[in-house]
Amino acid sequence: MSGKRLALVGAHPDDCDILASGLAMRYRELGWDVLFVSMANGDCGHQEMDRAELGARRAGETAAVAEMLGIEYVVMDVPDCEVQPTLEQRWALLRLLRRFAPDLVVTHHQQDYHPDHRYTSQLVGDVSFLLKVPHCCPDTPALRKDTVHAFFHAVRASDREDAFAVAVPIDDLWRRKLEVMACHTSQMFEWLPWVNGEDMRDIPPASDAEGRLAFIDERRRPIFTLAADLYRDRLVELLGAERARSVKLAEVYYAAPFPTSLSERNYRVLFPFLC
Ligand SMILES: [Zn+2]
Repeated sequence: MSGKRLALVGAHPDDCDILASGLAMRYRELGWDVLFVSMANGDCGHQEMDRAELGARRAGETAAVAEMLGIEYVVMDVPDCEVQPTLEQRWALLRLLRRFAPDLVVTHHQQDYHPDHRYTSQLVGDVSFLLKVPHCCPDTPALRKDTVHAFFHAVRASDREDAFAVAVPIDDLWRRKLEVMACHTSQMFEWLPWVNGEDMRDIPPASDAEGRLAFIDERRRPIFTLAADLYRDRLVELLGAERARSVKLAEVYYAAPFPTSLSERNYRVLFPFLC
């Protein structure tokens, strides 16, 4: 089977990492190429640092993730909280995706809670057909293949979607996924606990690496446990009852209503590790 190319398009420089780094690791295990995109530069999410300082720090955090996973990580030059379905942002994403030529693109659900997530989803939908239209942005050659589109299972989703879904077990990747998330120090150990009203004295110091992974584990594990439980019947269909029963943690991806969506017809070549 020829190598496939995965592009994850998130709004902020930690969304792809939190939501889908397990899938990225599966692709990398096969030697397949992965691109993470952040549509905004993430320069708003901090209670103390100013925007320029934070933007630079978060660029360093994404570089660390890129190094750890062996992927390309592109952070767009768009201020945080200002992702919009403008022509400028549409063409920037179109050119980037054409250059990478993905077989599978995953982005946020259209009804996500954060406006940057919603408009990122819209931008991906806006370019989904244009990827193949040669007279649109002719400076970057149009693709001659179909690109399959899917959504992340949202962090806050407690219900199943009706759409076709694929559940990827990530138990064996969980520790590495924690390490990926821990690269986002400004978020995991500073901004997110603060904005969520946690007692900041509970955060382990930087010298306590294991304590910090446990801190993230406690907060993030329930999301992926819930996803595995919500989609247990899909895991059974994909893996068989015995293997499915042992899965504790899963990332879930489901069909996006764009020109070529994830479906029964195309998922096997994109998720061969499930077959
Ligand atoms: Zn986000």
